[in-house]
Amino acid sequence: MNNLDVMLKRNKEYAAQLSAPGALMPQSLPQVKAIIIGCADMRVDPAHVLGIKPGEAVVMRNIGGRITPGLLEQLGMLGRIGEVAGAIPGGGGEFHLIVLHHTDCGITRLAKDTGMLAHYFQIPEREVETRSILDPRQAVAIDVAALRAIPALPGEWLISGLVCDIASGLVDVVVPAAPIRAAKAA
Ligand SMILES: [Zn+2]
Repeated sequence: MNNLDVMLKRNKEYAAQLSAPGALMPQSLPQVKAIIIGCADMRVDPAHVLGIKPGEAVVMRNIGGRITPGLLEQLGMLGRIGEVAGAIPGGGGEFHLIVLHHTDCGITRLAKDTGMLAHYFQIPEREVETRSILDPRQAVAIDVAALRAIPALPGEWLISGLVCDIASGLVDVVVPAAPIRAAKAA
């Protein structure tokens, strides 16, 4: 069997485990509880690291799990889809926006390639160092702050920043969960 054959065999097992036909259709799913922005690295799939089950979270992955214009564009599209589908709550209910970075991230190997990173973040090359490419703890804090600065995101959503230690598999909460924006005083 080649790799795809192995995957297709697993897919049959997965499909057989679904308790009822259509179990993954939107009306059958629990309400989405989170959007997780994470790295494309194969070792940090939130389904494994955080035990995310079908229907629990929207997972968006890119190189480094970074907040880039491309990521924000997709987040905006997701918000529009959510509005239409009613899947993403606009208010009420506990909803988490989670940024998940990790140690030994491949993006660190691009640190000297400031031209490529400048294009990725759509910033001038001289500003690349402000994105802390080499330090996942600083980077996750920077990216949480970047998301907090987006007025379109519902202020009552919780936001947090995590770093997964590749050596242990354990996640460290670098930015504890808190509302995106503090509620205005009455
Ligand atoms: Zn990575």
